[in-house]
Amino acid sequence: MKQQFDDAVVGAGIMGLAHAYALAKRGRRVIVFERNTRAMGASVRNFGMLWPIGQPAGIPFQTALRSRAIWLEVLRSSGLWHELTGSLHLAYHDLEVAVLQEFIAEAPSGHYGCEWMNAAQITSQSSLINPTNLLGAMWSSTEICIDPREVVAGLPVWLNETYNVQFEFNCAVTGYNQPTVMAGGKEWRANNLYVCSGEDFQTLYPEAFAASGLYRVKLQMMRSQPFGDELRIGPMLAAGLTLCHYKNFQDCPSLPALRTRFENEMPEYMRYGIHVMASQHARGEITIGDSHEYDEAISPFDKEEINELILAYLRAFLHIPNLQIVQRWNGVYAAHAAELCWTNRPAPGATIIASPSGRGMTMSFGIAEKIVAEILGEH
Ligand SMILES: Cc1cc2nc3c(=O)[nH]c(=O)nc-3n(C[C@H](O)[C@H](O)[C@H](O)COP(=O)(O)OP(=O)(O)OC[C@H]3O[C@@H](n4cnc5c(N)ncnc54)[C@H](O)[C@@H]3O)c2cc1C
Repeated sequence: MKQQFDDAVVGAGIMGLAHAYALAKRGRRVIVFERNTRAMGASVRNFGMLWPIGQPAGIPFQTALRSRAIWLEVLRSSGLWHELTGSLHLAYHDLEVAVLQEFIAEAPSGHYGCEWMNAAQITSQSSLINPTNLLGAMWSSTEICIDPREVVAGLPVWLNETYNVQFEFNCAVTGYNQPTVMAGGKEWRANNLYVCSGEDFQTLYPEAFAASGLYRVKLQMMRSQPFGDELRIGPMLAAGLTLCHYKNFQDCPSLPALRTRFENEMPEYMRYGIHVMASQHARGEITIGDSHEYDEAISPFDKEEINELILAYLRAFLHIPNLQIVQRWNGVYAAHAAELCWTNRPAPGATIIASPSGRGMTMSFGIAEKIVAEILGEH
């Protein structure tokens, strides 16, 4: 007798887990399939930055805030570590100040909660931030730091204990013919299939993925030794290069001039899509990144040159005594040029939900809630 479920989810990354939560909370019987012994994709390889401030005003930012609210509900209920750190975008050049102040001036119309801090205010709060040439920063209160490794390991346990969600690890889904799910050489029954397969475009519905416009992006990352409570950086940090990366700054009049300056003065950073951010987790480990290489440029072999550039830029704004890099890795996510999150219905009962680019941790729960409500015909 095949086991019967309302919904089957492919992938135990954050998108799969968020969909499992949205469905199980509605009292539905849910099973999640993960082809590896545990999720090892983008969802465990990121900064753990829940970063609403990076989203453009309107639907993206509102979805990020809704996602943040659900994240808090889940984190508090599951007891998983998180910190309401907020974030600082540090400015060391007049053009960076101009972009940030232009953004802050328009912030109320986008409902962002951010404000300018001068250099003295910043350095009085953190002795780790480099005061030399520091001109100020944009403070935002909405960002939350999690540890992606702990969250992606802990949520399946919590979802199982709290909502009876069944997990099948080491079990790749290879086909779906409503209601039959083929996985790991066996069959299950589920009325709906949610495909949250991250950067795997080949195993299920390859023709739908091929027509989607999705592409892959590779990032290089590093983690420091744990500092315990002895050294805390406080807010999660970004600096000038990040202003060219996140779309929330795209309408700032001074942004083109800042981008031109980086292209002229730091071409190697622009070539590898490097911008530098730092987050710090429960045991004091600092996660540092990142770079961006696309599709054909993606190689399994990391470039030490990229890591050196990232660390050099980090040292320009953050002074960590005795910083040691104890882990280096890369991660790959799926991205789409036009869609906040590309979705598709390739077969009866089946829905593909692609990774929402470099913001999947931030957006996951908000997107899942919207998609599940749509599929279940809720308003
Ligand atoms: C280095 C890096 C840093 C980032 N930093 C941030 C950040 O700080 N904040 C933020 O908001 N976003 C960040 N992102 C983006 C975010 O991590 C991703 O958007 C998000 O994790 C994607 O989640 P996912 O569940 O779609 O994909 P994944 O995490 O890749 O999960 C997909 C899962 O599906 C499984 N799977 C695939 N096919 C099958 C199959 N047929 N059967 C069974 N299982 C299958 C895979 O094994 C995998 O575990 C970052 C990404 C990277 C790579």
